[in-house]
Amino acid sequence: MNNLFVYLEIENGKVEDVSLELLTKGRSLANQLKCQMEAVAIGSKLENIASQVFPYGVDVLHLFDDARLYPYTSLPHTSILVNLFKEEKPQIALMGATSIGRDLGPRVSSALFSGLTADCTSLEIGDHEEKKEGKTYTGLLYQIRPAFGGNIVATIVNPDNRPQMATVREGVMKKEIFDANYKGKTVSHEVGKYVSDTDFVVSVIERHIEASKVNIKNSPIIVSGGYGMGSKEGFGLLYDLANTIGAEVGASRAAVDAGYAEHERQIGQTGVTVHPKLYIACGISGQIQHIAGMQDSSMIIAINSDPNAPINAIADYVITGEVEKVIPKMIKYYKKNSK
Ligand SMILES: Cc1cc2nc3c(=O)[nH]c(=O)nc-3n(C[C@H](O)[C@H](O)[C@H](O)COP(=O)(O)OP(=O)(O)OC[C@H]3O[C@@H](n4cnc5c(N)ncnc54)[C@H](O)[C@@H]3O)c2cc1C
Repeated sequence: MNNLFVYLEIENGKVEDVSLELLTKGRSLANQLKCQMEAVAIGSKLENIASQVFPYGVDVLHLFDDARLYPYTSLPHTSILVNLFKEEKPQIALMGATSIGRDLGPRVSSALFSGLTADCTSLEIGDHEEKKEGKTYTGLLYQIRPAFGGNIVATIVNPDNRPQMATVREGVMKKEIFDANYKGKTVSHEVGKYVSDTDFVVSVIERHIEASKVNIKNSPIIVSGGYGMGSKEGFGLLYDLANTIGAEVGASRAAVDAGYAEHERQIGQTGVTVHPKLYIACGISGQIQHIAGMQDSSMIIAINSDPNAPINAIADYVITGEVEKVIPKMIKYYKKNSK
């Protein structure tokens, strides 16, 4: 009772990274709260889910296995979570800020009158004092995310209603095995008790999924360009540098909006969150919304003509100069020195 729950997103029998990242975070939150972590798998042919999630420290795995539950449709998955949460009364429920989580989370939270914070960038446990009522709450979930266009970082709490619900984008939390030999308990539920036949009003006839051609999230080196690259052609320099040093190309939102790069390359609050070993920011000013997606890079190099560009404040190395001059030199000397 009153445990922490994570909804598992499953595609072709594989638990998605975003869910494994949430299990990693969920395990550490559950340890702090001294409660158990439970995971919910809804879909079809779920036999191999347990072996995928137990190493992340799942204590109880709830299985809802029915051919009609895969692929995801809104009503059956909502009914299952709502009815399961009514029974189990979790204190916290987490899911990915993906297209599924964005559809499912609000449906579940409104049915349970629980509230939900979308797109959290950090989750912590802490106390809260409600001064007006003279009440102190302990062990609340701090749901932390940028607010007001990224101008502040807000900590949101939900003192009274349960579960405290939050969604987190893929890549924001780190995925880490808790214990390779960890063994939890599996509970197989009778689907008919949680879902009515009318919930299956939508059936998916055909599904087309286009895999992303860009693997920016897992690249150890990212060369990222901003509006300062000047044009789509100017962005070509970044591909030359990336090809030379074995990197992937990223972009700021201003560069994407200007048509210099595809949207899937956007890094930041409304793009991808990355944690590379090396991040080279070229012609990027370093607004908070961009920094939110790359500040955990192990090393940051900033190339900017403005010596006072905000990105310089978080960079390990700053090169003050025009990208058009600096990048060709980097390519030239890298090639020369790696012969
Ligand atoms: C709700 C919200 C969400 C957002 N989400 C994101 C997001 O996910 N990702 C994101 O990136 N932004 C996001 N933004 C936009 C963000 O606020 C900035 O507008 C954007 O990051 C700026 O991009 P930029 O640094 O490329 O452009 P600019 O701010 O225009 O900076 C260009 C930089 O290039 C430098 N420069 C110019 N010419 C040269 C040259 N020849 N050589 C070297 N340097 C040069 C300039 O000195 C300047 O520092 C968001 C904004 C909002 C309100």
